[in-house]
Amino acid sequence: MSEKILEVKNLKTSFYTHLGEVQAVRGISFSLNKGEVMGIVGESGSGKSVTSLSIMKLLQYPGEIKSGDIFFKGEDIVNKKNKEMLNIRGNEIAMIFQDPMTSLNPVYTIGDQIMEVIIRHQGLSKKKAKEKAIDMLRLVGIPSPEERVSNYPYEFSGGMRQRAMAAIALSCEPDLLIADEPTTALDVTIQDQILKLMKDLKEKLDTSIILITHDLGVVADICTKIVVMYGGLVMEEGTSKDIFYNPKHPYTMGLLKSIPRLDLGEKKRLIPITGTPPDLIKPPKGCPFTARCPYAMKICSLHAPKYTKIDENHKAMCWLLHKQSPNMKMDTGVKRGIVNE
Ligand code: SF4
Repeated sequence: MSEKILEVKNLKTSFYTHLGEVQAVRGISFSLNKGEVMGIVGESGSGKSVTSLSIMKLLQYPGEIKSGDIFFKGEDIVNKKNKEMLNIRGNEIAMIFQDPMTSLNPVYTIGDQIMEVIIRHQGLSKKKAKEKAIDMLRLVGIPSPEERVSNYPYEFSGGMRQRAMAAIALSCEPDLLIADEPTTALDVTIQDQILKLMKDLKEKLDTSIILITHDLGVVADICTKIVVMYGGLVMEEGTSKDIFYNPKHPYTMGLLKSIPRLDLGEKKRLIPITGTPPDLIKPPKGCPFTARCPYAMKICSLHAPKYTKIDENHKAMCWLLHKQSPNMKMDTGVKRGIVNE
């Protein structure tokens, strides 16, 4: 049986602003096995980045985990003190942020920044830490790492800085790596290299990875499991195959229609999802996607649907999966009522 590395149960996270409580994450649950790569996908404001900051316990005032559990290697970390989390962060859970320039310190060399993590978490001597820093730069594909280790961040290109961030995050061989939009600011070739790097690292170190992105296209190749978030909730969860070839939620279908798909073998016009995400100070009481959903019915705005289990690993939250209606047929092949009823 696979070992569960992370289990998030009914997590609720809010920000307390002068306008009111922003309910950024409104009760989400998912789990991740050892060596698994999971994508959390959604537009900005869906709650995906807040989820990762909650797991890392890096939320800052006015953000706060309201309730729920986050089990890491079987232990609930929600109530861990900052000091205990310092040991876990970097050592067992590490994170790569979207913009490496704001995460790397411009006045220290890349080598110093990797060595600092190694010395703090592994207690190695300076000499050994430098050797390990060079090894890590080599592992993430930095050419001439013996020389590059003495470079400052400004001497690295955007892609190399992202790799250096990966080297820092991975230098303690964490069990879990969270990468929040690690490719957004990069051009397509570099994006590809970073994703390939993450794939290699998973193979070499058996690291579990959570990849957070607004772009379903990015997760296609690397993730085994995908969680689709919207309005602070999980709309659909399944394997990559489920999400790409058998989506059940209109929001997932909308996301799929808005990305280029080479695998479909035909030129399809990209269709953006019109409208804006819901106001999470006053979240809708029904389905959060109602205002933008082409299939919305009266019940959608009145009551939030429960999850429908489609198969062992696949579930979605939509009234279309509950109700019988022979007139409804979506263009992705999903007929209302034929699933799980
Ligand atoms: Fe659309 Fe209703 Fe399903 Fe929400 S519950 S996604 S509004 S059909």
